[in-house]
Amino acid sequence: MSTLPLAESLAAGLEERAAAGLYRRRRITAWHAGLGPAELAVDGRRCLAFCSNDYLGLARDPRIGAAMATAATAWGVGSGAAHLVTGHTTEHHALEEELAAFTGFPRALLFSTGYMANLGLLCALAGRGDLVVEDRLNHASLLDASRLSGATVRRYRHADAAAAARRLEGTGVRKFLVTDGVFSMDGDQAPLAALASEAGKAGAALLVDDAHGLGVIGPGGRGSCAAAGLAATAVGGLVGTLGKALGTFGAFVAGDEALIETIIQRARSYIYTTAPPPAVAAATRVSLAIAAEESWRRERLAALVARFRAGAQALELRLAATTTPIQPVVAGDARAALDAAEALFDAGLWVTPIRPPTVPAGSARLRVTLSAVHTDDDIDRLLDALAGLPALRASEAPDADADADAGEELRP
Ligand code: PMP
Repeated sequence: MSTLPLAESLAAGLEERAAAGLYRRRRITAWHAGLGPAELAVDGRRCLAFCSNDYLGLARDPRIGAAMATAATAWGVGSGAAHLVTGHTTEHHALEEELAAFTGFPRALLFSTGYMANLGLLCALAGRGDLVVEDRLNHASLLDASRLSGATVRRYRHADAAAAARRLEGTGVRKFLVTDGVFSMDGDQAPLAALASEAGKAGAALLVDDAHGLGVIGPGGRGSCAAAGLAATAVGGLVGTLGKALGTFGAFVAGDEALIETIIQRARSYIYTTAPPPAVAAATRVSLAIAAEESWRRERLAALVARFRAGAQALELRLAATTTPIQPVVAGDARAALDAAEALFDAGLWVTPIRPPTVPAGSARLRVTLSAVHTDDDIDRLLDALAGLPALRASEAPDADADADAGEELRP
C-alpha cells in the first residue's frame, strides 16, 4: 500500500505512463474559412487530418450549420432540463421519428452521447443473474456498460460467431449478445448475420452498436444491420451515434416499443441528465436527410478507401482486411506507433496513434480514417509520407498476437 501523498503518487503514475510511451496529450485545434474541409490549424500550422470520424464530411456542412444557427436563434441554446422534464422538444421528437424511419425500427430514443446510450441500454435491460456475451474488441463504452449492468459478462474471440455461441450456452437466464457493427479501432465488420442466427438459437437478444456503420455502410447508409440483411425483428436494440458520419452530436437507441419504453423508465444515463440542445436536434434532422440523399458521399468514400488500400499494399503496410473508412496501419509496439505519428505530424499530416490499453499489447497502430471530403491528392500525400517510414513495413515489424481468445468471464 502506498503511503505517498496524492500529488506525489499521481506524478509517479504519470511518469510511468510516459516512460512506457502511453502518455496521452490533447492538441488544441482551430478551423477557419481558409482551410480545406479536412484541414485544421494546430499551433498556427495547417494540418491535414486523417483521424476524425466525420466520414461523410458533414461536420462543417454549411446547410447543417445554418439549421443549427436558425434553431438556436429561435429556441435558445440550452434544453433546460432532462427529456423527462421540459427538455424533450418537438425538434427532439421529430428527430427520433426520422431516426426510427431511417433505421427501420418502430422507435428511436435520443441520448446525449453514444457512451451514455450504451450505458443506458445495457443497464436498463441486463442485471444480476443475466448473461451478457460480447466481442472482446467491443467499444470501451459497451465493455463498461456490461460490467456496470451487474450481469455475468463473457467475452468471445473477436468477430467469431461460433465462439459467441459457445459463450451463450446455458439456460434459465436472460441473455444478450452484444457487438459493435464496425469495430472502432480495427475497422472490420462484425459477422452480423451469423451472430443474429446464434442469438436466435440461444434465445438471446442481439444488441448492435453501429456508431461507425450508420450513414456509411449498407443501402442508403442505413448501417451494418441493413447491410447484413437483418430485419428489425432480428435485432433487439441498435445504438447509433450522431457525432460521426452524421457530423453533429449525440446518439440514439432504436428498437421496438417495449424496449424504448423500458429504457425511458430505467436508464439512469437517460433519466438523470440534461437533454441535448434542441438546435443540435434540428441540425441533425438536416444532416440525416443529407446523409440519406447524397449517396455520392458514400461512393466517393469507397473510391478513396480503394485508393488508400492499393497504395498502402504496394508499400507493404500491415492493413486490416476491411473496406470501411477506418483503415488501421499496424505498427507493433506503442513507441513505434508514436514515432510514426510524430513523423507524419511533422509533415503536416495528423493520424492518431492508438496504443494499449485501447488496443491489445503489441498491436499499437495508426488509426487512419478517411472522409468523403478528402481529395485524391490528400490520399497520395499520406501515402508518400508513409513511404518514408520503413519501420511500418510488414517485413520490418515483428508479428503481434493481438487476438488471443481470452474467453474470460467477468463477474461484478
Ligand atoms: N460506440 C462506439 C463504437 C464508438 O466508437 C464511440 C465513440 N468513439 C461510442 C460508442 C461513443 O459515442 P460518443 O462519442 O457519442 O459518446
